[in-house]
Amino acid sequence: MPQEIRIAVLHFAHETVTFLKNDTTLSDFIYPGSPAKGEALLKAYPKSYMGGFVKMAREFDGVELVGIESPLWPKTGTGSGWITEEAFETLTGKMVEGLKAEGPFDGVYLSLHGAMAVRGIARPEAELARRVRAVVGRKAFIAATFDLHGNEDDEFLKHADMGFAVKYFPHYDEYLQGERAARMLVRAIRGDYEPVHAVKKVPIVTATVRMWTGASPWMDLSQRALTWEAREPDVFVNVFFSFPFADVPDVGITVQVLTNGNPKLAGDIARDIADLAWRNREALLTSTKIYSIAEGVALTKQAVAKGETPVVLADHSDRSGSATFLLKEIIAQDLSQVVVATIADAKATAKLKAAGARAGDAFDMEIGGLVDESAGDPVRITGTILNAVEGFGQFWVVVKFGRGNVLILSTYLVQIMDPFGLRTIGIDLDAFKVFAIKSRVHFRRGFDDNGFAKTILLVEPDQPFLGTIHLDALPYRNVDLKKFYPYGEGEFRA
Ligand SMILES: [Zn+2]
Repeated sequence: MPQEIRIAVLHFAHETVTFLKNDTTLSDFIYPGSPAKGEALLKAYPKSYMGGFVKMAREFDGVELVGIESPLWPKTGTGSGWITEEAFETLTGKMVEGLKAEGPFDGVYLSLHGAMAVRGIARPEAELARRVRAVVGRKAFIAATFDLHGNEDDEFLKHADMGFAVKYFPHYDEYLQGERAARMLVRAIRGDYEPVHAVKKVPIVTATVRMWTGASPWMDLSQRALTWEAREPDVFVNVFFSFPFADVPDVGITVQVLTNGNPKLAGDIARDIADLAWRNREALLTSTKIYSIAEGVALTKQAVAKGETPVVLADHSDRSGSATFLLKEIIAQDLSQVVVATIADAKATAKLKAAGARAGDAFDMEIGGLVDESAGDPVRITGTILNAVEGFGQFWVVVKFGRGNVLILSTYLVQIMDPFGLRTIGIDLDAFKVFAIKSRVHFRRGFDDNGFAKTILLVEPDQPFLGTIHLDALPYRNVDLKKFYPYGEGEFRA
């Protein structure tokens, strides 16, 4: 008979843009379905880390999973700033209570992101691990999954035993990393794996738009990690690219390596990958070209004229969803057959909803802009409503305007990652040659890595707003950019 194994499952994830003015508050984590516990928590995010973890853990005999009450992603998604101390203390307090009430446990799975930023708590994921360890004791094993945008250093693994981060951006392997976390947690509990780690920081910090793993040298970092995992059994490599829009002390590239009781091997691999990143530091910053909005729209016109369509025109820098700079330029240069997806405008959508807006109505409104300077000015659009519909927790209005263009208004920031989803709000994809979206890299999932778009152009406004590639224009307080390439020399020792 296999020995009974009890594993607690917890979730706490956010990618915090600390330069946004709206804090992420306790109420943002509380909505129908969140917090979740028991089977409801285990069934949240079935295609992501959680789904992979649960699937694999349940393939082992004698494993019991206990979903401890945990918050799901805040309803603001990634469109909110600093998490308040009240939110962190209340939510982790509940988790700790749940662990105490339901214990004892042989293992704990933490489904995390890694780029959470909390007022007054420098390394929130490590702090959560420390509190969990204090409840479950030294004998239990703690494993976590991470996004590669996590801001990490050696603190987390002082309290936890193992971490598994995705290797691709877009993050295709979330489910796979969840599966690995489950398998290695069970093996460690059964005494079949002795997690030993090495961590190496590389002082390079850059904007996420550059980090697509479909191009070198970002691709090479992922590939080198995969190569080490393939050639050395029981080795796991995390290359955290980091999330620079969180003003926290552990930004910058971080390499973590896990081995089965072999500290020398862990150190050798961590050094190898850190060296590879440092040697390629210049190319890491130039692999993706970013155009001005005027240039990007002009190049779109040329691509359409040459038949190199569909074109994706992505404003990667809009962090509120309300920015109108690209829409304005599309109108100024008189582009046609464009889908603008989306302009977030909570006030306009609320007004339209209250007025009972529906297909066929005339439309004449100033929309977008205003939430802060990075959103620009509102733009007046006159046209006809094609569709007005409730879905995915927000109200959507589709407006036809100009020469065969469509504007999609949403309530919150929306990152369109896949053109086919637009069909659900009535968009006929064949009627359009240009998709003007707000996304940095995730759009490559549905527009690029499947061969859909023939031309891809990334743009940002001339002014360095909060999603900019010019990080030195941002008001960091907890990060000294001069210690990081390319803002200073950085100090890297192999
Ligand atoms: Zn990410």
